[in-house]
Amino acid sequence: MSDKRKLLKKYMKCLDEMKSELKRRQLKKTLKTHIKALNDLECELKRREGKHTGGKRGRVCDSSNLPHPQILDEYTTPYCRLREEARELLEAAVVARKEAYVPYSKFPVGASFRSKCGYVYSGCNIENVAFTPGCCAERTALAKGVSEGQLTYTAGAVVAYHPKGFTTPCGVCRQFLREFACRDFPIYIANAPCPDREGAIPAIRDEDEVLVTSVYRLLPHSFSTFE
Ligand SMILES: [Zn+2]
Repeated sequence: MSDKRKLLKKYMKCLDEMKSELKRRQLKKTLKTHIKALNDLECELKRREGKHTGGKRGRVCDSSNLPHPQILDEYTTPYCRLREEARELLEAAVVARKEAYVPYSKFPVGASFRSKCGYVYSGCNIENVAFTPGCCAERTALAKGVSEGQLTYTAGAVVAYHPKGFTTPCGVCRQFLREFACRDFPIYIANAPCPDREGAIPAIRDEDEVLVTSVYRLLPHSFSTFE
């Protein structure tokens, strides 16, 4: 009997030890969780302090510190105040817009670009029943020029009509256009309704405002650098 009691005592002791080990492990786990939360809080605090004091962490970047090419101004001006070369591009875009193939969106766009050698290439948007294969006017015009060996451009124009304002190139076209711009160049954008019938009203009137923007303004800090 005495032996059995001894054995029981031994097991009880062992059980107690196991219980305290388990408790220790659980405490260790809880402690770890608290330490991690404290570290996270410390990091967050440092980040916020950096932001408020202008330190390195979270400092708002001043874009003037980034490399810029010679950037052209962006402004609006009446059509009649534009130089002849700009008006010529807008007119070419208006003519190209007449051929727009837009059975789905009914949103015709015309574009034109002048190559470094002085040639003007124009194009319209071409839609597709499957949507994805569609092509914007800007890319149509540039593709025509590039396919004829003209790889550098000096000015461009886009003409469309939206009651709420100017229609600027989509993101894909901005990147496409950027490929063929050695330097920043002007893009003239006119918001011009399509004439009801041939020659009824000029698409762009002298007093109509034209947005003069540029390749860099449309796609700042792009992947490649200008010359
Ligand atoms: Zn586009």
